[in-house]
Amino acid sequence: MVLLIKASRDPAENWIEAIAADLPDLEMRVWPDVGIRDEVEFMIANQLPPGEFASFPNLKFVASTSAGVDRLLNDPDFPAHIPIVRSINTQRTATMCAWVCYQVIGHHRRFANYRENQPKKIWEFMHYPPPDELGIGVMGLGTLGGMAARTLRGFMYDVAGWSRSFKTIDGIKCFAGSDQLEAFLKRSNIIVSILPGTEGTNNLLNRETLDLLPEGAYIVNCGRGNLIHDDDLIDAMDSGHIAGAALDVFKTEPLPEDHPFWSHPKITITPHYSSNGSAKHGVGVIIKNIRRARAGVPFEDVIDKELGY
Ligand code: NDP
Repeated sequence: MVLLIKASRDPAENWIEAIAADLPDLEMRVWPDVGIRDEVEFMIANQLPPGEFASFPNLKFVASTSAGVDRLLNDPDFPAHIPIVRSINTQRTATMCAWVCYQVIGHHRRFANYRENQPKKIWEFMHYPPPDELGIGVMGLGTLGGMAARTLRGFMYDVAGWSRSFKTIDGIKCFAGSDQLEAFLKRSNIIVSILPGTEGTNNLLNRETLDLLPEGAYIVNCGRGNLIHDDDLIDAMDSGHIAGAALDVFKTEPLPEDHPFWSHPKITITPHYSSNGSAKHGVGVIIKNIRRARAGVPFEDVIDKELGY
């Protein structure tokens, strides 16, 4: 049994060290030194050149290095029968949650205005609404969205969440499905999206849905850039209906130099940086499933390719 590693952010040595601590007998190879392809049964990767996945005849699973599996699923050559093990990484969840809270609280508490006032030596208390009067709408209540919703609730915000299937979460008003999207949007002064990039989430925030948000609403997106109809967001900000947006993900990444988001005064950009999960905190799900392969039992935490996440 061989594990092939194509690392992305955290280098392969870190994955090897973290996995060897639990599975010292497992042979590990690092892309592109694949060796004999028939021997490779497990892979850690979130993208390979076209046709490569199909060239490993005994591959049992691919473990994604990123929470979003859109790159794998968008690969037309990805073999249909190979399961994709989702990435579960406690550090990614924590760092993402911190980025979300920073954006929400920064907007709510007007930190940008204080930064503007400082060089002018202006000492001014600027009003902000009490958190329990500010509706926060978290789109996506999975691992990341669920944690963000609960954490924001801890700061006393009036938090609602929206997902595909209905959830019950203490202190969070839960909405589900397209039927309840309108009611969810109408109560959301700040939208936080941590949705996956799927056909069902394409351009979900467009002219029509942005119009449903209360006047002066703010958009925070760290799920995937497919969510937002870029031109409609710009129009909604220019008309004053939307106060601004903090965006970490974009339809095309890196964001092209000529994209109007770069210079828009109401947009804050970070370069797909909102979260970071290290090998040390992400190996659990991979080790578990290698053990399950050895025991001949079904894998766990496998993504649903039909749903796309
Ligand atoms: P999960 O699979 O745990 O959760 C996804 C959530 O989205 C679920 O609550 C799901 O609903 C909901 N959802 C999916 N499709 C729809 C839809 N069409 N309508 C309504 N709700 C929908 O994923 P994670 O929380 O782990 O990650 C979410 C996404 O965040 C990733 O797919 C990735 O794209 C993005 N991400 C971005 C990062 C960054 O650095 N910017 C880093 C990590 C992740 P249900 O619960 O009913 O299934």
